[in-house]
Order: sequence, then C-alpha cells, then structure tokens
Amino acid sequence: MNQTEEGLRIAQMGPIEARRIDGREWWLWGFAVTVTLVLTFGIVALTFPAFRTQEDSAYWSDLREWVRGLAALVLLFDIYTIYQRLQLQRIRRQLAERDQLFQLISENAADMIAVVDTEGHRLYNSPAYEKVLGYSPEELKTTSSIEQIHASDRQRVLEAAEKARRTGRGERLEYRIRHKDGSWRILESTASAIRNEKGETTRLVIVNRDITERKRAEEMLAHNALHDGLTSLPNRALFLDRLQHAFARSERHPTSYKLAVLFIDVDEFKVYNDSLGHVAGDELLIQIGQRLTSSLRGVDTISRQVESKDAVGSMAGDTLARLGGDEFAVLLDDIQDPSDGIRVADRIQEKLKAPFQVNGQEMVISASIGMALRTAACNQAEDLLRDAEIAMYRAKRAGKACCEVFDAAMHSSAVNRLRLETDLRKALELGEFRVYYQPIVSLRSGKITGFEALSRWQRPEGLVPPSEFIPVADETGLILSINRSLLREACLQLRSWHAQFPSDPPLAMSVNITPKQFAQPELASEIGLILKQTEMAPSNLQLEIVETIAMRDAEMAGGVLTELKALGVRLSVDDFGTGYSSLSRLQRLPIDTLKIDRTFISKMDVDAETREIVRTVIMLAHNLDLTVVAEGTETKEQVEQLKEFDCELAQGYFFSRPADATAMSELLASSCHAGVSLIDR
Ligand code: C2E
Ligand code: MG
Ligand code: MG
Repeated sequence: MNQTEEGLRIAQMGPIEARRIDGREWWLWGFAVTVTLVLTFGIVALTFPAFRTQEDSAYWSDLREWVRGLAALVLLFDIYTIYQRLQLQRIRRQLAERDQLFQLISENAADMIAVVDTEGHRLYNSPAYEKVLGYSPEELKTTSSIEQIHASDRQRVLEAAEKARRTGRGERLEYRIRHKDGSWRILESTASAIRNEKGETTRLVIVNRDITERKRAEEMLAHNALHDGLTSLPNRALFLDRLQHAFARSERHPTSYKLAVLFIDVDEFKVYNDSLGHVAGDELLIQIGQRLTSSLRGVDTISRQVESKDAVGSMAGDTLARLGGDEFAVLLDDIQDPSDGIRVADRIQEKLKAPFQVNGQEMVISASIGMALRTAACNQAEDLLRDAEIAMYRAKRAGKACCEVFDAAMHSSAVNRLRLETDLRKALELGEFRVYYQPIVSLRSGKITGFEALSRWQRPEGLVPPSEFIPVADETGLILSINRSLLREACLQLRSWHAQFPSDPPLAMSVNITPKQFAQPELASEIGLILKQTEMAPSNLQLEIVETIAMRDAEMAGGVLTELKALGVRLSVDDFGTGYSSLSRLQRLPIDTLKIDRTFISKMDVDAETREIVRTVIMLAHNLDLTVVAEGTETKEQVEQLKEFDCELAQGYFFSRPADATAMSELLASSCHAGVSLIDR
C-alpha cells in the first residue's frame, strides 16, 4: 500500500483502534506458537522410555532421531516467527509514527491538502480548507471542487490533473477558487498521483497554497511601478508601453490606422505650486487629472479605448497618463483624421477653463498642448512623445493656452534648441555673458534717470541678443545663475555711477525678472542678499516683471510682489499692453511703474487708434499713481507725442541703443556734465 494512502487510512482510524488490531494480532501469533510448541512437545514425549511398548531398539532410536529433528525444526521455525513478528511490529510502529507525523502536518499546515479520486470527488480535506475557503468538512464533502474553480481557470486545472494522473506529478499552477462568501481566492497548487499495485492512478494528493495576499501585494507593486501615485493615472513607463503596442497594431493596418499623442503642460504650474504650497499643488493636479479623464470619456470615436491583452497592466484602454510634474499625455489611438486630435485638444482646453476650487480658493489655469501624429518614419514611442513635447513648447512660446501640431521644422528647431542649451551651460561656465545698459530718460528734463540692464551673450561669432537665449535659459532654469550675476554687476556699476554722477534722485537701475525667477520661492531673499552685498540702497533698484506674469493671478502674484516690495525695491510692469489685463487689476498690486510695450509706441505716430490707446493708458496709470515709461521710443515725433500725453519717462533707440558700461559712462558724462538734454540733441 502506498505510504500516503496508508497514512491517510491510519490518520482517519485513530490510535486506539490501531492498538486493538495490534493486540489481536499478538494473540493470534501467540496462539499459533503455543500450539506448535505443545504439539512438538507431545511428539517428543512419545520418544520418552515410559511410552516404549516395543522392544525394538532400532525402531525407537530411529523414531527418537526423527522426532528430535522435527522438534528442532519447529523450535527454529517458532524462534524465526517470533523474530519476524518483532521486526514487523517495529516497522509498523515506525509507519504509525510517520503517519502521525503526516497527520500532524496535514492537520496543522497552512497549506490545504486534499485527496481526490479520479473523478475529482473529495476524499480528504485538511482543516486548512475551512480556514481558507470557509467551507465546513461536511460542505466540502457535498460540493464539487471543480465547480468552485473560476470558469476561466477550470480547463487549466483539469489539464494539470490529467498530467498528474499520467506522469505521477502535475505542474505547479495558479488558479482562482470561490470562497464561501463569494470572493475569489488565488491558490497555487501541485498534484501528485497515488497508484495501486497495477500502477494505475487511483487518487491524487493536491497541495494548495493560498497566495491571494501575495498576489495582491505583487499586483499593487506592479500597479505602483506603472501608475502615478498622486493621480493613479498610468505613468510614463506604462504610457510608452501602450504607445508602443498601438504602434504594433497600426502596423497591421497601415493605411487606415492613425495615431496621435497629445502632450499637455499646465501653464505656470510652478508659480501656483510655490505660492499655494505643495499640498494644494497636489490637490490641483488631482483635479486636473480628473478633468482630463472626464474630457476624454465618451469620445469613443476619437480616443477609442483599446482592449489589448498584450499591454502591460490590466487597465488597457486608458489613454491618459501623468508623465510627471504638471505634464500629462493622451494617446489618441486609431483616429480617423488629424483634425480629431485638434478637437480633443480643444475640448481639453475648454474643460480646463472652468475655475478649480482648491483649499476654498478659486483658481483659473490654462494648459499648453502639443500634438504629434505618427508618421511612417517614427518607430519609437519615445520619439512620438518627444515630438509632442516639442510641439507643446512651441505652444508655450506662442503665448500658452493653445495647441500646436508637430512638424519637421519644429524638429530642426528642437535640435537647434538642444544645441543652444548645451552652449548656454558652457557660456555660463566661461563667463560669456555681458551686461548692456540702456538709458531711461526723463521726458521733462531730457536727463538720464536710470538704466535698464540687459543681457548679451558674447560669442566668438558676435553678440547674441537676449530674445535668442533668454527663453531657453528660462525654461532650463539657467536664467537664475545668469541673472544673479547680472544683478550683482548692475548694482556695482550703479554704485560707481552714483559716485561719479551724483543726482537727486539718484540714478536707478532696472532689471528684468523672468517667469522662472518669479516662481522661485527664494527670489526676494536672494535679491535682498545681493543688495546687501553690493551695499546698494533698495530704492534704487527697479524690478521689471512682464505683464502676463504679474497679472496672471492677482492673488498669487500679489503675494510675491508684496514680498519683493517689502525689500524696499520698486516694481514695474514690463511690456504692458501685451497681456489681457485691465488697468483696474493693477490697482491691487504694489507696483510703481508701467512700461508701455514698444509695439504701441512704434505705431503711435502713424496710427490714431494706437495713439489714443497710449494716451488713455498714460492717463489711467496716472490716476493709479503709477509712473509711465514708454518703451521703444525711436523718433522725435513719438517723443513729442509722449510729452504731450504727460508721459514721464522714455527708453529707446532715439536716446541710445543698449551699450556697455563704458559707452554709458560717456553718455552720462555728456548729459550730466555738459548739461545736454538727450531730447534736443
Ligand atoms: P525688455 O525688458 O522689454 O527690454 C527692452 C527691449 O527693447 C530690449 O531688447 C531693448 O534692446 C529693446 N529696445 C529698446 N529700445 C528700443 C527701440 O527703440 N526699438 C526697438 N526695436 N527695440 C528697443 P533686448 O535687449 O533684446 O531684450 C529683449 C528682452 O529680453 C527684454 O525685453 C527682457 O524681457 C529680456 N531680457 C534682456 N536681458 C535680460 C536679462 O538679463 N534678464 C532677464 N530676465 N531678461 C532679460
Ligand atoms: Mg524690461
Ligand atoms: Mg519691455
């Protein structure tokens, strides 16, 4: 009998019964030995002299020999039998001990051990079954194990059992089985066959382990590896995987299948994040994620959800992902026409327009979207995503809150940009940035009242204007280092001019603040430190912040401006008129000066409407107690007009182009010492 089978039999029989069988066997053996001994003794006794009836000594001696021989044989047989009996008893004890061990193990094991017959009927189930699956031993006897297995796993289980029957051992497999409460548990199981003397499989011993928790943990880990922790949206890795699978699908239908990726970036998110705090920033991102999800739902014809078995993760069909920070991406799978992509981008922007409620505060945001369509040349998911990102940057540069579609020209400009970025880093190390100054002139006296410090990049091939490198420097954060040294140098230069050309009020210095700088939490303290180090009176410094940044969110920008204002510096709104802000909103900000953008000034002497705008802006600014600077003043007519409108200050080529400190010193010398008015030159 197979050991396991015997063990099971004993395990179910109990020790008392086993002992009774043992006793009965002893009794039988004892009886047999006694009978043979008594019989032998009887026969031996026949040879004793007292029983001699014949005097034939030869007969008696033969009989005695024969009987003694028989007695010796019987004795030997009995001794051998007793010896065998003792051996058997030892083996049986060992078996019983082993069975007891089996029983102990199976009864106490966390693993579920079952014995089933060839039809799958349960013959034995260890107690772990009740613990894991909730069924009592009676319920287990009356229910079918096969029926409790998940329908889609059933075939695999049956095949594994069949294999175990044939080969003696089945493969390890995982399957789902229904708990009594209706939930599914995941088991890992192996089956071994029990065979009879003929070698036929009569039963199977199945050892099942409950791996539900382990599986859940594994799934969670896999989910975490492929999803963003904040929004639970797929992350970059999963997005790229889905995209790559979409590529593979589109290859099967090259003509009809179109793919596009939208790259969405929230405009000025860093500003919100830094001013509101990271918790509120996170909350805003979660809400943005929800809006994006809802703006994609129900647009099946455009972003059809794809059931893809081969995609990583179980949530195939998701087309939205958070790539990190404030960047999201949408995979538009199998669209009919590129214009479908634009429509989705428009809908997203429309959805994001409604104000968000974060921490009881109302916030209005916008997003820049870049779209890239898959072309035959594009085989890598990363490439398509990168193209969409490049288009997104273009959208940002085009004034944000819009959508741009990637094209070949963008690609080459992106390559150039990358080169520029590397060169900028090098330039910073080599100290190739120069500070140029452009005078700001009083229209009343014709005297220089201050300067605007402007960066120039001194390259071997010539001077590079800021329009070519400031935007990239800003995006990459390099602007922080560039402007730190510019501010220091400008402050030192101003102090030296103060000493050479004293005036009342003293000459002022204007420096520009980019969006990246404005979003930097330590901006005020850094400026404060430089002022202290260069021993410059804060009131001589004017910070220029472009209108779009200063006015974007009055509440938030107000906080940063107030912090800067507390340093004692003066604040100026640069390029006024290029944004959409109203003059009344300016009222709430702690600013001192308005710089009217040069696009207005340049047109005012030819266009009556522009002239009227300039006049009104100056008038309203004066009502708000703001000083007005006219940027880009190039002609005498413009100067006269501005004087007529009572504009205090002007800056532009009419007075001087930006130039280095030496040139400005000469200009100062001629205007201050010689008393030349820059207007009447
Ligand atoms: P902005 O602050 O509005 O500076 C005025 C720009 O107008 C300067 O261009 C100046 O050269 C130009 N300009 C002045 N007068 C005239 C004129 O009569 N006609 C014309 N057509 N242009 C005139 P620039 O130096 O090329 O600077 C461009 C922009 O780059 C600046 O605009 C400013 O926003 C930014 N920028 C320049 N240097 C720096 C810097 O060091 N840091 C930061 N953050 N931004 C800078
Ligand atoms: Mg400026
Ligand atoms: Mg300007």
